[in-house]
Amino acid sequence: MRLELASGDRLIDGMASWWCAIHGYRHPALDRAAREQLERMAHVMFGGLTHEPAVRLAERKIAIAPGALGAVFFAKLCLQFQRACGRPARTRLLTVRGGYHGDTFGAMAVCDPVAGMHSAFAGVLAQHVFAARPPDGFDAGLDEGWAAHVGELVERHREQLAGIILEPVVQGAGGMRFHSPACLSLLRDLCDEHGLLLVLDEIATGFGRTGALFASEHAAIGPDVMCVGKALTGGYLTLAATLCTRAVSEGLMHGPTFMANPLACAVALASLDLLDGREGRQPGLDAGVPGSSRGPGGEAWRERVGAIEAGLRAGLEPARELALVKDVRVLGAIGVVQLQRDVDVGAATEAAVRRGVWLRPFRDLVYTMPPYVIAEEELASVAAAVVDAARAGSGS
Ligand SMILES: *Cc1c(COP(=O)(O)O)cnc(C)c1O
Repeated sequence: MRLELASGDRLIDGMASWWCAIHGYRHPALDRAAREQLERMAHVMFGGLTHEPAVRLAERKIAIAPGALGAVFFAKLCLQFQRACGRPARTRLLTVRGGYHGDTFGAMAVCDPVAGMHSAFAGVLAQHVFAARPPDGFDAGLDEGWAAHVGELVERHREQLAGIILEPVVQGAGGMRFHSPACLSLLRDLCDEHGLLLVLDEIATGFGRTGALFASEHAAIGPDVMCVGKALTGGYLTLAATLCTRAVSEGLMHGPTFMANPLACAVALASLDLLDGREGRQPGLDAGVPGSSRGPGGEAWRERVGAIEAGLRAGLEPARELALVKDVRVLGAIGVVQLQRDVDVGAATEAAVRRGVWLRPFRDLVYTMPPYVIAEEELASVAAAVVDAARAGSGS
Protein backbone atom coordinates (compact mmCIF):
# COMPACT_ATOMS: atom_id res chain seq x y z
CA MET A 1 0.00 0.00 0.00
CA ARG A 2 2.96 2.31 0.44
CA LEU A 3 5.21 4.30 -1.84
CA GLU A 4 8.62 5.30 -0.52
CA LEU A 5 9.97 8.67 -1.60
CA ALA A 6 13.63 9.61 -2.06
CA SER A 7 13.34 11.42 1.30
CA GLY A 8 12.52 8.11 2.96
CA ASP A 9 8.95 9.22 3.66
CA ARG A 10 6.39 6.52 3.09
CA LEU A 11 3.01 7.45 1.70
CA ILE A 12 -0.16 5.39 1.66
CA ASP A 13 -1.24 5.23 -1.97
CA GLY A 14 -4.72 6.71 -2.43
CA MET A 15 -4.62 6.56 -6.23
CA ALA A 16 -3.72 2.95 -7.10
CA SER A 17 -1.48 4.35 -9.84
CA TRP A 18 -4.35 5.83 -11.87
CA TRP A 19 -6.84 3.26 -10.57
CA CYS A 20 -5.12 0.11 -11.80
CA ALA A 21 -2.98 -1.22 -8.89
CA ILE A 22 -6.02 -2.80 -7.21
CA HIS A 23 -3.92 -5.33 -5.27
CA GLY A 24 -1.28 -2.80 -4.23
CA TYR A 25 2.40 -3.12 -5.15
CA ARG A 26 4.77 -6.08 -5.18
CA HIS A 27 1.99 -8.52 -4.51
CA PRO A 28 3.67 -11.92 -4.09
CA ALA A 29 1.12 -13.73 -6.26
CA LEU A 30 1.44 -11.23 -9.13
CA ASP A 31 5.23 -11.13 -8.83
CA ARG A 32 5.28 -14.92 -8.97
CA ALA A 33 3.00 -15.05 -12.03
CA ALA A 34 5.28 -12.65 -13.91
CA ARG A 35 8.43 -14.54 -12.90
CA GLU A 36 7.04 -17.95 -13.80
CA GLN A 37 5.83 -16.76 -17.19
CA LEU A 38 9.18 -15.07 -17.81
CA GLU A 39 10.91 -18.41 -17.26
CA ARG A 40 8.74 -19.91 -20.00
CA MET A 41 8.47 -17.15 -22.60
CA ALA A 42 8.19 -13.36 -22.50
CA HIS A 43 6.55 -12.77 -25.87
CA VAL A 44 5.48 -14.32 -29.15
CA MET A 45 3.49 -12.92 -32.05
CA PHE A 46 -0.28 -13.36 -31.78
CA GLY A 47 -1.04 -13.82 -35.46
CA GLY A 48 -1.34 -17.38 -36.70
CA LEU A 49 0.00 -18.47 -33.30
CA THR A 50 -1.68 -18.58 -29.94
CA HIS A 51 -0.49 -19.39 -26.42
CA GLU A 52 -1.77 -20.72 -23.13
CA PRO A 53 -1.90 -17.51 -21.02
CA ALA A 54 -3.93 -15.72 -23.70
CA VAL A 55 -6.33 -18.63 -24.16
CA ARG A 56 -6.85 -19.04 -20.43
CA LEU A 57 -7.31 -15.33 -19.90
CA ALA A 58 -9.80 -15.06 -22.77
CA GLU A 59 -11.83 -17.98 -21.44
CA ARG A 60 -11.79 -16.53 -17.96
CA LYS A 61 -12.91 -13.10 -19.10
CA ILE A 62 -15.78 -14.51 -21.15
CA ALA A 63 -16.85 -16.49 -18.08
CA ILE A 64 -17.10 -13.40 -15.86
CA ALA A 65 -18.33 -10.88 -18.45
CA PRO A 66 -21.94 -9.65 -18.42
CA GLY A 67 -24.47 -10.68 -21.07
CA ALA A 68 -23.54 -12.58 -24.22
CA LEU A 69 -19.95 -11.45 -24.75
CA GLY A 70 -18.33 -14.50 -26.34
CA ALA A 71 -15.16 -13.29 -28.04
CA VAL A 72 -12.08 -11.38 -26.93
CA PHE A 73 -9.69 -9.14 -28.84
CA PHE A 74 -6.54 -8.08 -27.19
CA ALA A 75 -6.52 -4.81 -29.01
CA LYS A 76 -8.77 -2.22 -30.47
CA LEU A 77 -13.99 -2.59 -33.65
CA CYS A 78 -18.58 -1.44 -34.83
CA LEU A 79 -17.93 -0.09 -38.35
CA GLN A 80 -16.89 -3.49 -39.65
CA PHE A 81 -19.97 -4.99 -38.09
CA GLN A 82 -22.31 -2.52 -39.80
CA ARG A 83 -20.49 -3.05 -43.10
CA ALA A 84 -20.92 -6.82 -42.73
CA CYS A 85 -24.62 -6.13 -42.12
CA GLY A 86 -24.80 -4.24 -45.42
CA ARG A 87 -24.93 -0.76 -43.82
CA PRO A 88 -21.59 0.79 -44.85
CA ALA A 89 -22.88 4.35 -44.34
CA ARG A 90 -23.06 3.78 -40.61
CA THR A 91 -19.64 5.05 -39.58
CA ARG A 92 -20.34 7.44 -36.70
CA LEU A 93 -20.77 6.86 -33.02
CA LEU A 94 -23.07 8.54 -30.55
CA THR A 95 -21.64 9.34 -27.16
CA VAL A 96 -22.29 11.65 -24.23
CA ARG A 97 -20.48 14.81 -23.23
CA GLY A 98 -18.06 14.62 -20.32
CA GLY A 99 -16.56 11.29 -21.41
CA TYR A 100 -12.97 10.13 -21.52
CA HIS A 101 -11.79 7.20 -23.60
CA GLY A 102 -8.06 7.75 -24.06
CA ASP A 103 -5.57 9.92 -25.87
CA THR A 104 -5.14 8.25 -29.26
CA PHE A 105 -6.93 10.02 -32.12
CA GLY A 106 -9.74 7.49 -32.47
CA ALA A 107 -10.42 7.58 -28.74
CA MET A 108 -10.04 11.35 -28.50
CA ALA A 109 -12.81 11.82 -31.04
CA VAL A 110 -15.34 10.44 -28.54
CA CYS A 111 -13.88 12.24 -25.51
CA ASP A 112 -15.69 15.34 -24.29
CA PRO A 113 -15.36 17.83 -27.19
CA VAL A 114 -14.38 20.74 -24.92
CA ALA A 115 -12.06 18.99 -22.45
CA GLY A 116 -10.71 16.89 -25.36
CA MET A 117 -9.79 20.04 -27.29
CA HIS A 118 -11.68 18.99 -30.43
CA SER A 119 -11.47 22.48 -31.86
CA ALA A 120 -7.66 22.25 -31.84
CA PHE A 121 -7.87 19.08 -33.95
CA ALA A 122 -10.74 20.06 -36.23
CA GLY A 123 -10.46 18.22 -39.51
CA VAL A 124 -8.35 15.47 -37.97
CA LEU A 125 -10.80 13.91 -35.53
CA ALA A 126 -13.77 11.90 -36.73
CA GLN A 127 -17.07 13.78 -36.28
CA HIS A 128 -19.24 11.90 -33.85
CA VAL A 129 -22.64 12.73 -32.36
CA PHE A 130 -22.68 14.12 -28.81
CA ALA A 131 -25.61 13.91 -26.45
CA ALA A 132 -25.82 15.87 -23.19
CA ARG A 133 -24.11 14.39 -20.17
CA PRO A 134 -26.35 11.96 -18.30
CA PRO A 135 -27.86 13.81 -15.32
CA ASP A 136 -25.87 13.46 -12.08
CA GLY A 137 -26.70 10.97 -9.38
CA PHE A 138 -26.43 7.19 -9.13
CA ASP A 139 -29.86 7.21 -7.45
CA ALA A 140 -31.38 9.83 -9.73
CA GLY A 141 -33.47 7.44 -11.83
CA LEU A 142 -34.19 8.16 -15.50
CA ASP A 143 -34.58 11.82 -16.40
CA GLU A 144 -37.41 12.02 -18.96
CA GLY A 145 -35.96 15.13 -20.58
CA TRP A 146 -32.58 13.49 -21.12
CA ALA A 147 -34.23 10.30 -22.41
CA ALA A 148 -36.24 12.30 -24.96
CA HIS A 149 -33.14 14.25 -26.02
CA VAL A 150 -31.05 11.11 -26.63
CA GLY A 151 -33.95 9.34 -28.35
CA GLU A 152 -34.37 12.29 -30.70
CA LEU A 153 -30.62 12.39 -31.54
CA VAL A 154 -30.55 8.66 -32.32
CA GLU A 155 -33.65 9.02 -34.48
CA ARG A 156 -32.15 11.96 -36.39
CA HIS A 157 -28.76 10.30 -37.06
CA ARG A 158 -29.75 6.65 -37.23
CA GLU A 159 -28.68 6.10 -40.85
CA GLN A 160 -25.12 7.21 -39.98
CA LEU A 161 -24.75 5.61 -36.57
CA ALA A 162 -22.82 2.39 -35.99
CA GLY A 163 -23.10 2.39 -32.22
CA ILE A 164 -23.27 4.19 -28.91
CA ILE A 165 -20.19 4.36 -26.69
CA LEU A 166 -19.91 5.56 -23.10
CA GLU A 167 -18.43 4.93 -19.71
CA PRO A 168 -21.14 3.13 -17.74
CA VAL A 169 -22.32 4.71 -14.45
CA VAL A 170 -19.06 6.54 -13.69
CA GLN A 171 -17.40 9.11 -15.94
CA GLY A 172 -13.79 8.96 -14.74
CA ALA A 173 -11.17 11.36 -16.04
CA GLY A 174 -13.95 13.56 -17.48
CA GLY A 175 -15.01 14.60 -13.96
CA MET A 176 -15.54 11.63 -11.62
CA ARG A 177 -19.33 11.89 -12.07
CA PHE A 178 -21.92 9.19 -11.34
CA HIS A 179 -25.13 8.67 -13.30
CA SER A 180 -28.15 6.40 -12.97
CA PRO A 181 -27.92 2.84 -14.29
CA ALA A 182 -31.35 3.60 -15.82
CA CYS A 183 -29.49 5.66 -18.46
CA LEU A 184 -27.73 2.48 -19.59
CA SER A 185 -31.00 0.58 -19.82
CA LEU A 186 -32.39 3.35 -22.03
CA LEU A 187 -29.34 3.25 -24.32
CA ARG A 188 -29.55 -0.56 -24.53
CA ASP A 189 -33.20 -0.26 -25.67
CA LEU A 190 -32.35 2.45 -28.21
CA CYS A 191 -29.53 0.32 -29.63
CA ASP A 192 -31.79 -2.69 -29.96
CA GLU A 193 -34.52 -0.64 -31.60
CA HIS A 194 -32.21 0.95 -34.19
CA GLY A 195 -29.67 -1.81 -34.92
CA LEU A 196 -26.78 -0.08 -33.10
CA LEU A 197 -24.06 -1.67 -31.03
CA LEU A 198 -23.73 -0.67 -27.39
CA VAL A 199 -20.05 -0.23 -26.50
CA LEU A 200 -19.27 0.11 -22.82
CA ASP A 201 -15.87 1.44 -21.84
CA GLU A 202 -15.25 -0.34 -18.54
CA ILE A 203 -11.55 0.52 -18.49
CA ALA A 204 -11.97 2.54 -15.27
CA THR A 205 -15.09 0.86 -13.84
CA GLY A 206 -14.29 -2.83 -14.47
CA PHE A 207 -13.13 -5.41 -11.95
CA GLY A 208 -15.20 -4.27 -8.99
CA ARG A 209 -14.35 -0.59 -8.67
CA THR A 210 -17.99 0.61 -8.55
CA GLY A 211 -19.21 -2.19 -6.27
CA ALA A 212 -20.29 -4.39 -9.20
CA LEU A 213 -17.80 -6.57 -11.09
CA PHE A 214 -18.64 -4.51 -14.19
CA ALA A 215 -20.65 -1.30 -13.94
CA SER A 216 -23.17 -2.54 -16.53
CA GLU A 217 -24.35 -4.99 -13.88
CA HIS A 218 -25.90 -2.10 -11.94
CA ALA A 219 -28.36 -1.88 -14.85
CA ALA A 220 -28.51 -5.66 -15.41
CA ILE A 221 -27.80 -5.20 -19.11
CA GLY A 222 -25.16 -6.68 -21.40
CA PRO A 223 -23.22 -4.60 -23.93
CA ASP A 224 -22.32 -5.76 -27.46
CA VAL A 225 -18.76 -4.62 -26.95
CA MET A 226 -16.90 -4.07 -23.70
CA CYS A 227 -13.47 -2.50 -23.25
CA VAL A 228 -11.28 -3.39 -20.30
CA GLY A 229 -7.79 -2.24 -19.35
CA LYS A 230 -6.27 -0.51 -16.34
CA ALA A 231 -6.94 -2.99 -13.47
CA LEU A 232 -6.86 -5.97 -15.86
CA THR A 233 -3.28 -6.77 -14.89
CA GLY A 234 -3.58 -5.38 -11.37
CA GLY A 235 -1.52 -2.45 -12.62
CA TYR A 236 1.54 -4.54 -13.47
CA LEU A 237 1.75 -4.31 -17.25
CA THR A 238 0.02 -2.61 -20.11
CA LEU A 239 -2.78 -4.79 -21.47
CA ALA A 240 -6.23 -3.99 -22.78
CA ALA A 241 -8.95 -6.21 -24.21
CA THR A 242 -12.13 -5.72 -26.19
CA LEU A 243 -14.82 -8.28 -25.55
CA CYS A 244 -17.66 -8.64 -28.02
CA THR A 245 -20.58 -10.84 -28.93
CA ARG A 246 -20.06 -13.61 -31.45
CA ALA A 247 -22.13 -11.68 -34.00
CA VAL A 248 -19.75 -8.72 -33.79
CA SER A 249 -16.60 -10.85 -33.87
CA GLU A 250 -17.36 -12.39 -37.31
CA GLY A 251 -14.78 -11.34 -39.85
CA LEU A 252 -12.29 -9.57 -37.58
CA MET A 253 -9.30 -8.55 -37.48
CA HIS A 254 -5.71 -7.40 -36.98
CA GLY A 255 -4.04 -5.94 -33.92
CA PRO A 256 -0.86 -4.30 -32.63
CA THR A 257 2.57 -5.92 -32.34
CA PHE A 258 2.49 -6.73 -28.65
CA MET A 259 -1.10 -7.97 -28.69
CA ALA A 260 -1.86 -10.58 -25.97
CA ASN A 261 1.65 -10.37 -24.48
CA PRO A 262 2.10 -13.58 -22.45
CA LEU A 263 3.65 -11.87 -19.43
CA ALA A 264 0.74 -9.45 -19.20
CA CYS A 265 -1.82 -12.27 -19.71
CA ALA A 266 -0.19 -14.37 -16.98
CA VAL A 267 -0.30 -11.48 -14.51
CA ALA A 268 -3.92 -10.69 -15.49
CA LEU A 269 -4.90 -14.29 -14.70
CA ALA A 270 -3.22 -14.03 -11.31
CA SER A 271 -5.00 -10.72 -10.69
CA LEU A 272 -8.41 -12.29 -11.47
CA ASP A 273 -7.56 -15.08 -9.01
CA LEU A 274 -6.88 -12.49 -6.34
CA LEU A 275 -10.17 -10.73 -7.04
CA ASP A 276 -11.97 -14.03 -6.50
CA GLY A 277 -9.95 -14.78 -3.36
CA ARG A 278 -8.45 -17.91 -4.90
CA GLU A 279 -4.92 -17.07 -3.84
CA GLY A 280 -5.55 -17.25 -0.10
CA ARG A 281 -5.91 -14.40 2.31
CA GLN A 282 -4.44 -10.97 1.97
CA PRO A 283 -3.91 -8.57 4.83
CA GLY A 284 -6.80 -6.52 3.59
CA LEU A 285 -10.01 -5.19 5.02
CA ASP A 286 -11.55 -8.60 5.52
CA ALA A 287 -8.58 -10.10 7.41
CA GLY A 288 -9.99 -11.94 10.35
CA VAL A 289 -13.43 -12.44 8.90
CA PRO A 290 -13.81 -16.21 8.87
CA GLY A 291 -15.13 -17.85 5.79
CA SER A 292 -14.73 -14.83 3.55
CA SER A 293 -12.98 -14.86 0.18
CA ARG A 294 -12.51 -18.62 0.09
CA GLY A 295 -12.85 -21.27 -2.54
CA PRO A 296 -13.01 -21.21 -6.30
CA GLY A 297 -15.03 -18.50 -7.91
CA GLY A 298 -15.50 -16.49 -4.70
CA GLU A 299 -16.10 -12.79 -4.68
CA ALA A 300 -13.43 -11.56 -2.29
CA TRP A 301 -13.37 -8.21 -4.11
CA ARG A 302 -17.04 -7.53 -3.31
CA GLU A 303 -16.45 -7.59 0.40
CA ARG A 304 -13.39 -5.38 0.18
CA VAL A 305 -15.01 -2.83 -2.09
CA GLY A 306 -18.08 -2.80 0.19
CA ALA A 307 -15.90 -2.12 3.22
CA ILE A 308 -14.03 0.64 1.38
CA GLU A 309 -17.35 2.21 0.33
CA ALA A 310 -18.54 2.28 3.97
CA GLY A 311 -15.19 3.68 5.13
CA LEU A 312 -15.20 6.41 2.51
CA ARG A 313 -18.82 7.41 3.23
CA ALA A 314 -17.99 7.89 6.90
CA GLY A 315 -14.51 9.37 6.37
CA LEU A 316 -15.46 11.94 3.73
CA GLU A 317 -18.54 13.20 5.58
CA PRO A 318 -16.62 16.07 7.29
CA ALA A 319 -15.81 17.49 3.83
CA ARG A 320 -19.48 18.50 3.48
CA GLU A 321 -18.87 21.15 6.16
CA LEU A 322 -16.09 22.88 4.17
CA ALA A 323 -16.93 26.25 2.74
CA LEU A 324 -15.91 25.73 -0.89
CA VAL A 325 -17.09 22.15 -1.33
CA LYS A 326 -19.73 21.64 -4.01
CA ASP A 327 -20.34 17.91 -3.68
CA VAL A 328 -19.15 14.80 -1.84
CA ARG A 329 -19.91 11.48 -3.52
CA VAL A 330 -18.96 7.85 -3.01
CA LEU A 331 -19.62 4.78 -5.15
CA GLY A 332 -17.83 1.49 -4.50
CA ALA A 333 -14.13 2.16 -3.96
CA ILE A 334 -14.38 5.69 -5.42
CA GLY A 335 -14.53 8.71 -3.11
CA VAL A 336 -14.83 12.22 -4.56
CA VAL A 337 -14.84 15.72 -3.12
CA GLN A 338 -15.75 18.30 -5.76
CA LEU A 339 -14.84 21.92 -5.05
CA GLN A 340 -16.45 25.10 -6.31
CA ARG A 341 -13.17 26.03 -7.98
CA ASP A 342 -10.11 24.33 -9.46
CA VAL A 343 -7.91 22.71 -6.85
CA ASP A 344 -4.62 24.31 -5.90
CA VAL A 345 -2.83 21.03 -6.63
CA GLY A 346 0.39 21.99 -4.85
CA ALA A 347 -1.33 22.98 -1.61
CA ALA A 348 -3.66 19.95 -1.74
CA THR A 349 -0.81 17.50 -2.39
CA GLU A 350 1.19 18.98 0.46
CA ALA A 351 -1.73 18.64 2.87
CA ALA A 352 -2.19 14.98 1.88
CA VAL A 353 1.54 14.25 2.24
CA ARG A 354 1.41 15.73 5.75
CA ARG A 355 -1.13 12.99 6.51
CA GLY A 356 1.23 10.41 4.93
CA VAL A 357 -0.99 9.92 1.89
CA TRP A 358 -0.44 10.18 -1.87
CA LEU A 359 -3.26 11.88 -3.79
CA ARG A 360 -3.32 13.46 -7.24
CA PRO A 361 -6.17 15.97 -7.51
CA PHE A 362 -7.20 17.37 -10.90
CA ARG A 363 -9.51 20.14 -12.07
CA ASP A 364 -12.04 20.79 -9.28
CA LEU A 365 -11.65 17.30 -7.80
CA VAL A 366 -9.88 15.79 -4.82
CA TYR A 367 -10.56 12.07 -4.93
CA THR A 368 -9.32 8.62 -4.02
CA MET A 369 -9.52 5.25 -5.76
CA PRO A 370 -7.35 3.15 -3.42
CA PRO A 371 -6.07 -0.39 -3.93
CA TYR A 372 -8.65 -2.92 -2.64
CA VAL A 373 -6.10 -4.31 -0.15
CA ILE A 374 -6.12 -1.12 1.92
CA ALA A 375 -6.49 -1.74 5.66
CA GLU A 376 -9.12 0.02 7.74
CA GLU A 377 -6.70 2.44 9.49
CA GLU A 378 -5.01 3.23 6.19
CA LEU A 379 -8.37 4.02 4.65
CA ALA A 380 -9.19 6.33 7.54
CA SER A 381 -5.89 8.16 6.88
CA VAL A 382 -6.67 8.44 3.17
CA ALA A 383 -10.16 9.83 3.84
CA ALA A 384 -8.77 12.33 6.35
CA ALA A 385 -6.14 13.32 3.79
CA VAL A 386 -8.82 13.90 1.12
CA VAL A 387 -10.67 16.21 3.53
CA ASP A 388 -7.46 18.06 4.44
CA ALA A 389 -6.45 18.31 0.78
CA ALA A 390 -9.89 19.68 -0.14
CA ARG A 391 -9.57 22.29 2.60
CA ALA A 392 -6.02 23.31 1.61
CA GLY A 393 -6.69 22.99 -2.10
CA SER A 394 -9.71 25.29 -1.98
CA GLY A 395 -7.82 27.89 0.03
CA SER A 396 -10.37 27.69 2.82
C1 LIG B 1 -7.79 5.48 -18.65
C2 LIG B 1 -8.97 5.28 -19.52
C3 LIG B 1 -8.83 5.00 -20.89
C4 LIG B 1 -7.48 4.99 -21.58
O1 LIG B 1 -6.69 3.93 -21.16
P1 LIG B 1 -5.11 4.05 -21.49
O2 LIG B 1 -4.57 2.78 -20.98
O3 LIG B 1 -4.66 5.26 -20.74
O4 LIG B 1 -5.02 4.22 -22.96
C5 LIG B 1 -9.97 4.79 -21.64
N1 LIG B 1 -11.19 4.83 -21.08
C6 LIG B 1 -11.37 5.08 -19.78
C7 LIG B 1 -12.77 5.09 -19.21
C8 LIG B 1 -10.27 5.33 -18.95
O5 LIG B 1 -10.45 5.62 -17.66
